[in-house]
Amino acid sequence: MALPKLDCIIYDLTLPLSKKEIRFRPFLVKEQRNLLIAMESDDKETIEKNIKQVIQNCTISPVLDIDSLPILDVEFYFINLRARSVGEVVESKYRCENDVEGKPCNNIMESNFNLLEIEVNFDENIKDVIQLSDQISIKFKYPQYSIMKAVNQTNSLNDIAFAMIIDSIEHIYDGQQFFYAKETERTELIDFIESLNTEQFAKIQEFFEHLPKLNKNINIVCSKCGHHHSIEVEGLENFFG
Ligand SMILES: [Zn+2]
Repeated sequence: MALPKLDCIIYDLTLPLSKKEIRFRPFLVKEQRNLLIAMESDDKETIEKNIKQVIQNCTISPVLDIDSLPILDVEFYFINLRARSVGEVVESKYRCENDVEGKPCNNIMESNFNLLEIEVNFDENIKDVIQLSDQISIKFKYPQYSIMKAVNQTNSLNDIAFAMIIDSIEHIYDGQQFFYAKETERTELIDFIESLNTEQFAKIQEFFEHLPKLNKNINIVCSKCGHHHSIEVEGLENFFG
């Protein structure tokens, strides 16, 4: 005889950069177990694969191509998924480094914060269209999740940063014609970026150094020395520390 099936709650979420409207269900015990095993393995590739699999399983609509979503959208989605599945409140610990009579206080402060209160920080001054010369400009999109594969396979930060730039080109414009990256050979894009002078390249780096970030401000008062702390928590891994 078939056992009765359990209903699950459905949640709606708008992804902050792509603005995609997501319907999802929380993850199930077996999915949480797989995630935990992956996290414990400490192997980035395994973790990335499992995060993707869980997101894929829990998404009711639309059909998602996770690799083509901005990294930040995937992280934001995963945090919400985790909040709705395991619990919204995460406990974190910080060391008070306030100077007390010439020595750091060193008290361990505990803080609970709500994952659903994490926000996206945009830098209003950063434009995705960069003027390289009088005629030529280049437009970037936010780095996509597919880059994570390359990130996990190389240890060179330079290689990762360069690959991220190449893979995030939307189009190049010469004042008359648009050259779309998806219709252009990757080697040609590499040649183009390598032919920039250092000043032009610095403008591009600025865009990537100021990408939107997941951010939460935590206010804690140290119970030992009474110092008021305002801590900015940024980045996926730091929300589950
Ligand atoms: Zn203190």
